[in-house]
This record gives sequence, C-alpha cells and structure tokens, in this order.
Amino acid sequence: MQHSGYFNQFGGAFIPEILVPTFNQLEAAYLQAKDDPQFWQDYETLMSTYSCRATPITFAQNLTEHFGGAQIYIKREDLNHTGAHKANNVMGQGLITRRMGKRRVIAETGAGQHGVATATMAAKFGFDCTIYMGAVDVARQRPNVFWMEQMGAEVIAVEDGSATLKDAINEAFRDWVTNMDDTHYVLGTACGPYPFPEMVCWLQSIIGKEARQQMLERVGKLPERVYACVGGGSNAMGIFSGFLDDKEVELVGVEAGGRGRGMGHHAARLAYDDAKIGVAQGYKTYFLQNGDGQMQDTHSVSAGLDYVGVSPILADLHERGAARFEAATDDEVVEAMRLTVRKEGLIPALESSHAFVQAFKEAPSMASTDVILINQSGRADKDIFTVADAIDDPKWKQFIINKAEEYRRADNSIDNTGDDHA
Ligand SMILES: *Cc1c(COP(=O)(O)O)cnc(C)c1O
Repeated sequence: MQHSGYFNQFGGAFIPEILVPTFNQLEAAYLQAKDDPQFWQDYETLMSTYSCRATPITFAQNLTEHFGGAQIYIKREDLNHTGAHKANNVMGQGLITRRMGKRRVIAETGAGQHGVATATMAAKFGFDCTIYMGAVDVARQRPNVFWMEQMGAEVIAVEDGSATLKDAINEAFRDWVTNMDDTHYVLGTACGPYPFPEMVCWLQSIIGKEARQQMLERVGKLPERVYACVGGGSNAMGIFSGFLDDKEVELVGVEAGGRGRGMGHHAARLAYDDAKIGVAQGYKTYFLQNGDGQMQDTHSVSAGLDYVGVSPILADLHERGAARFEAATDDEVVEAMRLTVRKEGLIPALESSHAFVQAFKEAPSMASTDVILINQSGRADKDIFTVADAIDDPKWKQFIINKAEEYRRADNSIDNTGDDHA
C-alpha cells in the first residue's frame, strides 16, 4: 500500500500492522466505487433527494457594488442538509460502507459538526453509530451532542489527555482496531492515512464539478479566482477540484489566522511559516509542531479550522505553487460575516467567513469584468453562541440568563416537592 497515496512527499499511510487488512479493504472499495459510474450516479441521486444538490451559485450583487471591483459569486454549500459540505463526505462514505457490507460506523468530532453529520448518515442508512468526542468538547457543544443522541448515536466523552479532538481520534482508532470486521471509521476531512485524503477529496469534488459547470452556464466564463477556507482541507479541495486543470483560475485557500502570528495563536499551517513537515496521525504533512515533533496548541474563533495538520494534497499544491494560501484573523472573520449577513442576508459559518475575508481584501483592486467565486462551506446557525459573544450582544446575554433562571426555578420546585414528601 505504500506505493500509493503520496502527493510528492506528502501523504502515505502510517498505520499499525493490525489495521492493514482493513485499509486494504477500504482502498479496494474506494477504487471500485471510483471505477463504477453507477456509484457516482447513486451518490448524486442520494445527494439531490436527501441534501440540496446541486447547490446553487448566488450572485452577491450588494457586496459586489459595496466593494466596487470583481463580481462576487458564492457557492452555496450551506444549503446542504446539516448545514455544511460535510454531508457530501459522510453520505458518500455511507454508500461505501454499505458496499463493504459493514453495519456500524464510528467517527471522531471536535466541535461536533462531523459527529452530527455522521449520526445523520447512520440514521438514514440504519447503521449503529458511536461518536468519540473529548469530554471538554462534549461539555461545550451540548446542542450538537443533543442531536447526535436524538439520531441514535452513542456519544462517548473521552477523558484522556486534554480531553479534546486529538484524544477523541486516538480513542476512535482504538475502537476500530477492536471492531474492524463490522465497523467503518468515517474520517471527517481530507487528512489521515491513505486512502482517506484522496477518497474524501473525490467525494467533495461534487462541489467543484457543479461549480465549474454553473459558472460557464450562468456567468459565461470561469472565475479569475476561487476562495475556500482550509481546516483539514475537504471543502477547499472539493471546490478546487473543479478548476485544477484550468491554469488561468487562481486557487486561494484561507486558514485560521486566529489572534495573529506567533505559535499558539493561530492554525495557519501553510500561510504562516510556523509549521514543519512531519508524520503524525498516520500521514505526512505540515504540522504545527515544535522541533521535537511535539504538537503545539492552536487557536481559532472557528472550531472547524482549529487543527494542527492539513490535507497532504493541499500541502503538495502549496509546495508546487498551484494554490496560494492566506490567513484571516478572528476579528476580520467576525467583521466579514456581519457584513455578509447585513448586505446579502446570507449567514456564512465562521469557518466559511475566512474565505470571505480574503475575497473582500482582493475584490476592490480587481476589474469589474473579473469574477470571483467564494465557497460558502456552511451556515452559521451553529455559531450563534460564539458570534453573539464576539459582538457582545446584550439581548442575547439576557435571553441566556432568563433561560437559565427558568430551569433553576423548575429545578427548585421539583426539589421542594421531593422534600415535602420525604
Ligand atoms: C468542518 C468545517 C470546515 C473545515 O473543514 P474542511 O475539511 O477544511 O473543509 C469548514 N467549514 C465548515 C462550515 C465546516 O463545518
């Protein structure tokens, strides 16, 4: 298996011996699906009847006039079921899981978005589902945990280590080693050991295929530039895939600049120069690590971009100069999001808003005949707690306080009844 899955020096599959047969089985299922036109047809049918594919492109006329430069178009991945492009990946892996004859899926999740998407897929396909999540994340992401449990998933709070994403990943791999005969591990982004990066990019390429065709049909030309935010890299690779052969289209990936430059303050692996090439979590890429290979803390206002590694496929595009990488800071991101909500009535997720920041920086100096395309990877309903905090909205705070008061009063009345009868 070591012969495949490299993108020049990046990628590979550094996995424990015991998982080799499982990875071979997955690789075979993936390659078969890729060779079988019926698979892609089934996938498109599923996504058009269960999610919202093809998602439209929207001309952002008000933002275009506001910036007075390039025409701004937006690819609407936020219209997918569960609110983001993550649906493409999990539904595709659901079809592959069924082909392998497995009936249980597991996944790791940080903020919980991938957990919700996986639990949704499991409910739809009738699979058993276990989601691993750091105990700290379980405590702070109650709305997502609530929906996962409603969908029948078992959510396991991992108490090890820092009780966050990387500990959840370790625990999920432990489960997989024990249960690989009937279990598929639904990895959430274009990272990890081969075949995951390639398989996830292939499933997400549905975004780019649609977008390219829509630009030609609706706008009559390809965009000059395509912008996407970069966490693990799946939505970026998804939309970039449609334009990789079009040398005249510039691809721009936007990472989490967090509080700005300086290790520990951001999650920009490619745009800043803090990251080093190394092997971790089963693959080789740029990681935010120190000289000893110790992973460093990252920070971002958006949980979905807050990750130490990056897709080996994007690392290779970066190395070859085939894509440009920038970073947007937390403050810039909240501002770009508010402007987009106000001007267009669109609600881009904090993750997606990173792409908007860079597009807004560049649009004014481009010609009015130029066209840019931004991938709105998801919607921000999930971000209401973070955004309301960031803009310090007093009415929202009062709402939360009132809600807490209601629960406290209800709790007390239960206790009192109990005491009376004791
Ligand atoms: C999870 C998430 C991301 C980051 O993941 P990628 O694999 O980099 O695409 C970006 N946007 C949204 C809305 C997400 O939910």
